[in-house]
Amino acid sequence: MARRKKIYEGKAKILYEGPEPGTIVQYFKDDATAFNAEKKAVIDGKGVLNNRLSEFFMTGLQAVGIPTHFIKRLNMREQLCRQAEIVPLEVIVRNFAAGSMAKRLGLEEGTQLPRPIVEFSYKDDALGDPLVPEEYIAAFGWATQQELDEIVSTALRVNDFLAGVMHGVGIRLIDFKIEFGRVWENEYPRLVVADEISPDSCRLWDVETGAKLDKDVFRRDLGNLTDAYTEVARRLGVLPTNVTHTTKPTMIN
Ligand code: UDP
Repeated sequence: MARRKKIYEGKAKILYEGPEPGTIVQYFKDDATAFNAEKKAVIDGKGVLNNRLSEFFMTGLQAVGIPTHFIKRLNMREQLCRQAEIVPLEVIVRNFAAGSMAKRLGLEEGTQLPRPIVEFSYKDDALGDPLVPEEYIAAFGWATQQELDEIVSTALRVNDFLAGVMHGVGIRLIDFKIEFGRVWENEYPRLVVADEISPDSCRLWDVETGAKLDKDVFRRDLGNLTDAYTEVARRLGVLPTNVTHTTKPTMIN
């Protein structure tokens, strides 16, 4: 492929200029980081799995009427997306207590919450993405009040969708993080789900055993991260190799 202009390199992805104005290419790296990049590793195959899984979730969201930035997967590690102006918030939805919430409130991990809870971190690596009250968002101009209302209702719809899909394959959706971006249509901004949705940004526990199938495997040294992500992909049927085990040989004429 011709040399492309790099727009941005993050911890797990590189963004390149896309082939047409208003598009970008997301390249999924094998790099894993945790604790604000204090812990780092290269994990063979993670980028390929996350590219596939994010495609699966984003196209699923679009199918139920939730707009996303995703256009199409280009190859094993890249996807074409609409260029979006990222709202500087990590939007976290929690169904069960875990991670920072469990710590903050002294709750046992896995405690079911009375209802799904949406919370926000301000995206700033230097500050360690601090948790912020909802009131800050419009006050500091990170999003308008109208956008914020839409972000909350969309995040809860995404939660319903993801929790349902996961439940169908024996996985409990503990929590997840998504990001939103603005795309411009006829001079009006429209919010879309942007970035990625993958086991890097969700907590996924096996319903039966409670085994972790997400980035906590890396954060907490619980085993092989690629195996965990492969298991999620296998259950969701997004691995091409899956097909060979479920179909009979076919005659080639
Ligand atoms: N999360 C993420 N990126 C971040 C912080 C959190 O994707 O920079 C995800 C994380 O994987 C989990 C959810 O958001 O699914 C809630 O994370 P939490 O606030 O508990 O933070 P952590 O314990 O991961 O530091």
